[in-house]
Amino acid sequence: MPSPFDPNTQNHLTESKIVVALERIAEAFRVLLWNESKAYNLSTIQIQLLIFLAYHDQAKCSVSYLAREFNMTKPTISDSIKVLKEKKLVEKHDNPADSRSYTIKLTAKGHNIATHAAAFSTAIETPLSKLPDNQKQAMLSGLTSLIYDLNRNGIITVQRMCYTCSHYRATEGKHYCSLINAQLTTGQIRLDCPEHASVV
Ligand code: SF4
Repeated sequence: MPSPFDPNTQNHLTESKIVVALERIAEAFRVLLWNESKAYNLSTIQIQLLIFLAYHDQAKCSVSYLAREFNMTKPTISDSIKVLKEKKLVEKHDNPADSRSYTIKLTAKGHNIATHAAAFSTAIETPLSKLPDNQKQAMLSGLTSLIYDLNRNGIITVQRMCYTCSHYRATEGKHYCSLINAQLTTGQIRLDCPEHASVV
């Protein structure tokens, strides 16, 4: 069976080259996160949890939500939260919406580490910022379509993107958000929207 990892196949198909390019970028993320985790003596998932907690509202900071967000089991997330709590980087708070669960909040020390560690993305964002605008828009458009397909096929779970939002409408190739009552350009399509409402 032809594989994109076989150079003979890859060299004839643009999509195969893109698959290999995405794998290399995923590797860059892995290396950059690994460097951060070494610097703070944490695991890579613990660093990812801190960064997520720093930039998302409290309703998304429960073990169940984090397990779906990172495609991990609840016990795995709970173990990481336990370590972060022991290191005084997070605190547990009672969940007013559900007495059987709790939400997780960063301490000042945890927030400081999260915001510093999040800067690992600069290594990827800086070269992207140098691309012409039309290339950035084309990349964003292709990647959002790919993420949407992966989500629909059950490969990645939680998505807070326009294409999976009940406020999103597409008419004649134009994107529209009924929440803000405005058309969205390709560059305005969101991947992580705080107002996202899942389609039921
Ligand atoms: S609410 Fe956010 S995610 Fe939903 S369509 Fe509007 S901009 Fe997109």
